[in-house]
Amino acid sequence: MNRTDLKSMTLSEIQAAFSGQPAFRALQVYRWLHKGVSSFDEMTDLPKSFRDRLAAEYYIATARIERKYCSKLDDTVKYLFRFNDGEMVESVLMSYHHGRTVCISTQAGCKMNCAFCATGKSGFSRNLTASEMLSQVQAAQLDAGERISNIVLMGMGEPLDNYEAVLRFLDLVSSKEGMNLGMRHISLSTCGVVDKIYDLANRKYQLTLSVSLHAPNDRIRSQLMPVNRKWNLEELLRACRYYAEMTGRRISFEYTVIDGVNDSAECAAELACRLRGILCHVNLIPVNHVSGSAFHKSSQERLHAFESALSNHGVNVTVRRTLGADIEASCGQLKRRHEEEVANVEDFQQK
Ligand code: SAH
Repeated sequence: MNRTDLKSMTLSEIQAAFSGQPAFRALQVYRWLHKGVSSFDEMTDLPKSFRDRLAAEYYIATARIERKYCSKLDDTVKYLFRFNDGEMVESVLMSYHHGRTVCISTQAGCKMNCAFCATGKSGFSRNLTASEMLSQVQAAQLDAGERISNIVLMGMGEPLDNYEAVLRFLDLVSSKEGMNLGMRHISLSTCGVVDKIYDLANRKYQLTLSVSLHAPNDRIRSQLMPVNRKWNLEELLRACRYYAEMTGRRISFEYTVIDGVNDSAECAAELACRLRGILCHVNLIPVNHVSGSAFHKSSQERLHAFESALSNHGVNVTVRRTLGADIEASCGQLKRRHEEEVANVEDFQQK
């Protein structure tokens, strides 16, 4: 029999499933799940017979640490997590003065195929469940020994391409019987899945929407991001305007600065013009070089000239502080390296 994923269930779903049990049973189990236990035997205040019944019908999703890299430059920790079925994803734990932020993955791999991104290069494997997203937060929190104060859905995968599971995760992680994390402490990053941006806007959650823009026009954006051929910049920015109006939240535009591709003075002027009137902020991220890619970081001079040009045009802009630069702490880099190493070992063994 296929067992059911208990940790993806909301409290009311568990209550409905446990209808023959005492009323407090569901809440007891829910609390254990949200503390991050990995087996039913750890739920020590449940009768043994009930634990056995649960173990026969349900399973608890876990994220086990397969690899862990600690930056020597700052407190950033990068994890490669392994799920129950052996699938692996990356998460990054960052420390800021205001607390600990974990960046989690929403899919194993990605279908979006952005030209500069390591995740897309390894293809798409599967969607993660809500419980697997939660497990990344719990595992990082347990390992750090400190409460996670912020979550960003900015790891591997496109959150709005796994929308139902992401909504369920948001529901679970913000539930008051669970981690009780306010939506204001959560950011979701998308490459621009426009129909889902409208849906999210209508829900009026107070989360921060980050939009990966990376280009000031369709010509450059379509080269870098295939999703732009489905929803172009005008459609995307219209959805962003709507999101800001509906939620009152400022949009955070991510702009990966790539030498000679999107970092000219003309690009800055064009970008400023397109963003006029949108409640927003632009985050400039020097591109991380991915092996086999033709894209390189702009020089510091070019990066700062681009930043100043945007600022002079009235755009609210910052250059993102790089954390964990020595541990390849950006999207898909660690898993890709791990795969390459495993492939090398296999190669070696075959010889
Ligand atoms: N799919 C979502 C979230 C995952 S990617 C999205 O596209 O927003 C998280 C962020 O990292 C995105 O802004 C993405 O464009 C950026 N990114 C991916 N590869 C990068 C690289 N090599 N250098 C810099 N930023 C990169």
